[in-house]
Amino acid sequence: MELNFNTPTPIEKYSFKNFQFLLKRDDLISMDFSGNKARKIHWYLHNLPKDIDTIVSFGSVQSNAMYSLSVFAKKMGLKFRYYANHIPALLRKNPQGNLLNALNNGMKLVEGYENIKTSKNELLINEGIANKEAYYGIKFLAKELTEQLENKEYQVFLPSGTGTTALYLNRAFMELGAENFKVYTTPCVGSSSYLKEQFTALEENQKFHPSVIESKKKYHFGKLYLEFYQIWLELQKETKVEFDLLYDPKGWIVLLESRELFNNLIYIHQGGTLGNVTMLKRYAHFLKNREGKTF
Ligand SMILES: *Cc1c(COP(=O)(O)O)cnc(C)c1O
Repeated sequence: MELNFNTPTPIEKYSFKNFQFLLKRDDLISMDFSGNKARKIHWYLHNLPKDIDTIVSFGSVQSNAMYSLSVFAKKMGLKFRYYANHIPALLRKNPQGNLLNALNNGMKLVEGYENIKTSKNELLINEGIANKEAYYGIKFLAKELTEQLENKEYQVFLPSGTGTTALYLNRAFMELGAENFKVYTTPCVGSSSYLKEQFTALEENQKFHPSVIESKKKYHFGKLYLEFYQIWLELQKETKVEFDLLYDPKGWIVLLESRELFNNLIYIHQGGTLGNVTMLKRYAHFLKNREGKTF
């Protein structure tokens, strides 16, 4: 099976709450394999060691990276084994969303990080595909942006998990001599200092690190917040584009709080919308339990 990348992905013009911005549609790379996970896996498409028959990775049981790796493994004719530290009993009995799709792609799921082991024909990929190989595909993204846009000052914004995409995007612009592109991000998993530690683990030289902005309020990754759902819905109504429910709401809250920094904003749509199915179910339950309460 071939894995096709529909690149360069389009750049579209939108406005949200009178905030003009350009949207890089990396969610459109392909139907079932999109966003920054596709960019991060790009290197392996052509550089997979010949003797590999299995991909091994680990992380959360609903992660976008897990799903993307399951598609990649299937298309490359490889087996895929994934370790989750905890598998909720209900989800094990009745898999949904990314987990269901990954299992349907043939993923083998194992509980407990203490069980992680690989043998010689297996390739271990870090949680969230946070590794040096990710740079290859993210540099393509940077190159596309420099080729698609005129030579102006741009502020490129994308919310971070591991921070791999934001860090490597900023580094790629610098290495391409495209100093007119500056990358800004916000941490969705952990604090700003934790995110900076993750940057340093991948790239010691601080000059390559993107700017980190925090929201006024603290949010915990994977938790549901009324304002997350509201901003996600408002975005969808105004732009007719579906954003991700896990990372993008925090991203947009930060952007609206610091909009004076962004007079030429490019927002990177990093995909992840397949995971919205399960998030929307959780939100439906969450909102129902709130009924009658004032916001
Ligand atoms: C994985 C993911 C992120 C986080 O990417 P990192 O490179 O780990 O920072 C952000 N948004 C979406 C939609 C994702 O799927």
